[in-house]
Amino acid sequence: MKLQFLYEYQQQENYYSKLIQQINQIKNDDITRRLKDEYSRLKSEYSILYSKKTDIEKKILSKNTNCKRLQESKNNYEKLLYTPEINNVKKLETLMKQIEDVEKNIMLERTDIEDLEKNLKNVEEEIKKIKKKYAFIKKKYNKTKEDNEQRMNFLLNEKTGTEQFLQELKVRIDADLFNNYMKMKGKISNPIAEIKNRKCGGCGVEVPAMHYEAVKLGDYMKCQSCGRILVYIKNNN
Ligand SMILES: [Zn+2]
Repeated sequence: MKLQFLYEYQQQENYYSKLIQQINQIKNDDITRRLKDEYSRLKSEYSILYSKKTDIEKKILSKNTNCKRLQESKNNYEKLLYTPEINNVKKLETLMKQIEDVEKNIMLERTDIEDLEKNLKNVEEEIKKIKKKYAFIKKKYNKTKEDNEQRMNFLLNEKTGTEQFLQELKVRIDADLFNNYMKMKGKISNPIAEIKNRKCGGCGVEVPAMHYEAVKLGDYMKCQSCGRILVYIKNNN
């Protein structure tokens, strides 16, 4: 009977190390890390685009102010055309030239504004795309995080339960047997093996009939081939 508890102890220990493995996997989860990286990449890309946008808007604003100012001087020059001060051809020609120059400058500013507006549109499109990606990544990240948290809760629960179970089992195992098992663990994996179909579950070698009968009765026997402690579990045979 004690051997059965030891065998159960070994099963629980194996389960326990699987739990720890899975817990560590979640802790070092690559997907959430990659999503996090992507998320911060998008964030910095967004802030670059955003400052670009602000920059262009400022330029458009200043060019519009310029345009207005030029338009005003054009109006003023045009008003001069009809004043008595312009009383000879030379003055008239100079004034006409000034008006022409201002018009040219206005055209130049308008072309610049058009170009800047095109740029602004492009940047705004880029920002829209980034925002979409950003939302997608955020959703995926939150979903993965939530799934991981749920899984982690389950695993931690199982871990606590298994720890308790291991302690309960340990109390029911003879101390010498337990210490022996722990020593063997350092040298061989799964030091206690179940006999199935008269074979050692550890190495697969057939157990001699006499040993088999003894183990069946609960005696302490080791496999002659691999040295594992043998156990017979009634319900499994
Ligand atoms: Zn064996």
